[in-house]
Amino acid sequence: MLRSLSRLLRGQPPCPVPILSATLEADDAALAQHWLNQPEAWHDAGPVAEWEQVFADWLGVRGAFAFMGGRAALYAVVRALGLQAGDAVVVPAFTCQCVVNAFRYQGIDLVYADIDPGTYGLDVASVERVLTPACKAIMLQYSFGLISRDLEAVLALARQRQLKVIEDCAHATGASYRGRKLGTLGDVAIFSTERSKIINTIHGGTVATSDPLLIERMRDIQRNAPLPAAAKIGQLLNTVIHNHYTYAHAQRWLTAYWAKWRYGQRILPQMFAEEFRGEYCAHYSERMPAPVAALSLNQLRKIDGFHQRRLQAAAHWDAWCEREGYEKPLVVAASDPAFLRYPVCVAPEMKQDVRWAEEQLNVIAGVWFASAAHPLPLEPADCPVGARAARQCINLPTLL
Ligand SMILES: *Cc1c(COP(=O)(O)O)cnc(C)c1O
Repeated sequence: MLRSLSRLLRGQPPCPVPILSATLEADDAALAQHWLNQPEAWHDAGPVAEWEQVFADWLGVRGAFAFMGGRAALYAVVRALGLQAGDAVVVPAFTCQCVVNAFRYQGIDLVYADIDPGTYGLDVASVERVLTPACKAIMLQYSFGLISRDLEAVLALARQRQLKVIEDCAHATGASYRGRKLGTLGDVAIFSTERSKIINTIHGGTVATSDPLLIERMRDIQRNAPLPAAAKIGQLLNTVIHNHYTYAHAQRWLTAYWAKWRYGQRILPQMFAEEFRGEYCAHYSERMPAPVAALSLNQLRKIDGFHQRRLQAAAHWDAWCEREGYEKPLVVAASDPAFLRYPVCVAPEMKQDVRWAEEQLNVIAGVWFASAAHPLPLEPADCPVGARAARQCINLPTLL
């Protein structure tokens, strides 16, 4: 509270714009409370089936399958594609450990390709260089919700080499290219509703595909997937309410203190201890329970409003880049990016400690990604652009 007062005295807003959970509004918190009050319904199938139908229709695919996270969705995709131990998958040298885990848990080798400096997406020339006969798939990742510069070239290369294309849309829900939503361009896509993403249910993720064989296999995998324990679902709902009062409430400089006392003891973490060690974690196998589906539906209803706000913020940061002499991210022709965050490369020492952004810009800055497999300290060979981004790319919030 003292910090807020001192900020006010200096003529600043009482607290900086957050990068997590800013979409959790009062109606989402009320919905979480409603579900907290009826634990007997947490394992109902109805809301999950509704979410999958609504999401599939919204995206324009034949099948959607809901899991406890984007990483769980990816782990299911690895199995649905029939990838075997010893197979390899190409991923960008600018991703996160939960992606790496989802492949490594099945014994899949990762082959890192470099990214392009404007969109942080796979660089097709690098993909061609690193491909080996063991490679069975390419994972396209739309970092920050940007459409990759080499999207079409990578899709063409995959077709030519008969490689499966997985789209990692964790940052890109609602983005499109040439009028087609991302997540409909490859063989199969994963989406996330984790608290740092476009829409937010604290944890949650969904697979999307129109491939009949993959749909059949996904159905099987999902049917056999366990639901999370009741204690975990309760923690998740508690975290929704906590995060609303901590990150999204208009008077959060005050409500955050109350929320910490009232809800702060039961927070579900973003990553679990085993994951950091690269050990198997049950979270990757769990399917989505009813309350998370209901929260997903409520958030998706509001996505167009969030999208407009993010585009406005991106224009604000564009102008800031022009004033300050920073390179703007590249928005390729005919693309409608989601701008989950606004990436910009700054001096390495400005990334090592991003608190300057609170003082100078009134925002919390993020550090995605500080290594090729964040936060794993990994620096693959021959990926200089990814290595530079790991040292210098920070991201600014886009719900201002
Ligand atoms: C967050 C994220 C995921 C995983 O999503 P979760 O819902 O957090 O499991 C996958 N890929 C990328 C690039 C991400 O940032």
